[in-house]
Amino acid sequence: MASKEEIKCTFCRRPKHECNVLIAGQDGHICDQCIGQAYTIVKQETNAKGSSTFGALTLLKPTEIKTHLDQYVIGQQDAKKVLSVAVYNHYKRVTQKPKTTKEEIDIEKSNIILVGQTGTGKTLLARTIAKILNVPFCIADATVLTEAGYVGEDVESILSRLLQSADYDVTAAERGIVFIDEIDKISRKGDNPSITRDVSGEGVQQGLLKLLEGSVVNVPPQGGRKHPEQKMIQVDTKNILFVCGGAFDGIEKMIARRLNSQVVGYSATQDRNTVDKEHLLQYIAPQDLKSFGLIPELIGRLPVLTYLNPLDRDTLRQILTEPKNSLIKQYTKLFEIDGVKLSFEKEVFEFIVDKAMEFKLGARGLRSICEAIMLDAMFELPAQENAKTLHITADYAKEKIGKSNISKLRVA
Ligand code: ADP
Repeated sequence: MASKEEIKCTFCRRPKHECNVLIAGQDGHICDQCIGQAYTIVKQETNAKGSSTFGALTLLKPTEIKTHLDQYVIGQQDAKKVLSVAVYNHYKRVTQKPKTTKEEIDIEKSNIILVGQTGTGKTLLARTIAKILNVPFCIADATVLTEAGYVGEDVESILSRLLQSADYDVTAAERGIVFIDEIDKISRKGDNPSITRDVSGEGVQQGLLKLLEGSVVNVPPQGGRKHPEQKMIQVDTKNILFVCGGAFDGIEKMIARRLNSQVVGYSATQDRNTVDKEHLLQYIAPQDLKSFGLIPELIGRLPVLTYLNPLDRDTLRQILTEPKNSLIKQYTKLFEIDGVKLSFEKEVFEFIVDKAMEFKLGARGLRSICEAIMLDAMFELPAQENAKTLHITADYAKEKIGKSNISKLRVA
């Protein structure tokens, strides 16, 4: 209970017991929430004066974007090509001079949808593109969103994250990239309009429409639910590039069904023989997303559709050592900082990949396996002053994996 003498925030009059932190000044106090709001205002003001960390947009040609992507993302050639073109066109549109005549052609927004199993590089692709272009980037999870007014986050909260990553520079945020993960999890629950409202599925899809197509949205700067005291920031989403990703488990069946019915139908050409049944995802088309439960309006606002391949053994092996910031390069750097030269027996890499395949952990598993192998060395070596080298042998790696709990991660 608030006692009579309880101190309050001088700015919002919130009593101490309602604040997380209350900082005392000479003649008053300020609470954490007011500090947050004040910080936002200061940032907006300083950014308006042109001291933003996001300078001019780096506009690269599609082939240049692809070359950059190649340094970080292994394989996924189709996705990289499609993305490079879409991103190039999008930013060409953004930097287009204002229209002067009526005849001028309106370039449509090229929001993207990436379909592929989890851990195949969807987030990595979107993140890498944002890094290359030097624009703000954020990741949002579609599963936590609900239709406005229900428990969960409003769709606008996605933009709060983008603002935060742009350090409240609204102009920078307005040409940033938003990655919306698990878009497949907000599929319509059934084909028939339900009696009970579908607040986390179709409702959210409806809510996303206005963000994706471009409109001015009131965004609560600190995220979460809108509440009346909060000062909103207006963000225009016209030039924000939305990249959606999802695993769409089981969509291959829908692709197969569609391909089959096409073949049986009037276009029974030799196409049938050229269908690669092992890799059906490459034939994905917008109508498959509709069969999966995305509403046509949403599909229409995500005009660029591409897919990511599952990672095979060779790709995993490359991911381990080849990308610019590969896991092995990161461990080498970590030890180098302590003055230790780290090296590996070649078989260690094969062993790590074998385990990742065996545990069906994909690229994410590589990290857990490496951690299990390296943990003891990372724990002990910094205290050993005269240790200058560390050579990891296959036997050492096997011993560490044997002792660890990693096999418990095995996916059934
Ligand atoms: P997704 O978004 O598809 O679930 P992520 O992009 O988050 O997967 O990938 C998980 C991790 O696996 C990344 O941090 C990255 O290190 C690694 N990874 C996945 N696919 C690739 C790839 N094609 N090339 C390089 N690294 C990859």
